[in-house]
Amino acid sequence: MDIRPKITPIYQTSVFKFQDLTELETYFQEPGSSYMYSRNGNPNSDELAEAVNKLEGGAGAVATGSGMATIFAALMAYCRAGDHVLCAADIYGGSSALLNAELSRVGITVTYVPFEQLYNLGQFVQPTTRLLLAETISNPLLRVADLRRLADECHRHDLKLVVDNTFASPILTKPLDLGADITLHSVTKYISGHSDVTAGVTVAADAETAARLRQITMIYGLTLSPMESWLAVRGLKTLRLRVREHSHNALAIAKMLQQHPAVRAVYYPGLPQHEQHAVASEQGHGLFGGMLSFKLDDDPEAVSDFMRRVKRFPFAPSLAGVDSSLSYPLGTSHRNLTPEQQETLGISVGLVRLSVGIEPVEELIADLEQALS
Ligand code: PLP
Repeated sequence: MDIRPKITPIYQTSVFKFQDLTELETYFQEPGSSYMYSRNGNPNSDELAEAVNKLEGGAGAVATGSGMATIFAALMAYCRAGDHVLCAADIYGGSSALLNAELSRVGITVTYVPFEQLYNLGQFVQPTTRLLLAETISNPLLRVADLRRLADECHRHDLKLVVDNTFASPILTKPLDLGADITLHSVTKYISGHSDVTAGVTVAADAETAARLRQITMIYGLTLSPMESWLAVRGLKTLRLRVREHSHNALAIAKMLQQHPAVRAVYYPGLPQHEQHAVASEQGHGLFGGMLSFKLDDDPEAVSDFMRRVKRFPFAPSLAGVDSSLSYPLGTSHRNLTPEQQETLGISVGLVRLSVGIEPVEELIADLEQALS
């Protein structure tokens, strides 16, 4: 029987069979021609990696068990003990925890670069500096990096540029086209898009780095499971449609919040008042994504009251699902920063982050209005 499924089946197997020693040798001599062991490679995780690689315009990619695993793989692709990295100060709290608490233990040091200094790296670079890690759109204050300028500045100092493109997604921005060396995603977010997968993907601009990423993923065991890969591939198919709706809804909500008397500030790159609105518009081709943050009074009771009243935005500390949610950076993603770092970054008691979903926007707006009233 000739079975030809339209959709790749889930290869829920940890290992594959060889007929004889010739087949084993072919596996090693012709990489990609067959599979041996799912930690080293599986058709479902390869399908996901290849799909994201194609979207991002890369030379090769690997899928990993989480966004954190993928950031780890990207940093290890370029760094060894004794090296130094630069990291944008506006960064996901998990990324700074990885650098501060873990990579420091294996002799990789870090300097954080304030957003305003990102295009002037000379003062931060040391002889051992290898790379800069930055986000296209930062978590949680939605500051937008000018990636072409950043890539030029990094390469001028012989540094690699590693871009966490999670918030933007490749629908808004393709960092490799703008000069980045690696782009990566927490697939947990927009790429899979339904809040039911934990995964990551790292994409390299060149084949040598892509091979190194595969080696790291295999040896550290960062691999993604077949089932998670399959779900992420399914989600990815609607990424373009979803990101348009997320962006459309978020812009309408940002405009409403801006007018609301209980709201002290709104952070959304789609608003003309946003400091990087022009670059965001150019890099995002007129779309600004589904993430926004806003400030209530710096009063925990006001924040908790809002959380209790709002119905369509459950407090669930992740983002980018088709269903809306909210998060609280001070208590979750950026909890481990010092109070001084939190203050410098503007992560205050009243800061709430919304992940705007694809529900009818008038329903979302009505819900926010009643919760803020
Ligand atoms: N990068 C960004 C921008 C994130 O927001 C997150 C998680 O929230 C990560 C990376 C880490 O991804 P994961 O939770 O899939 O490990």
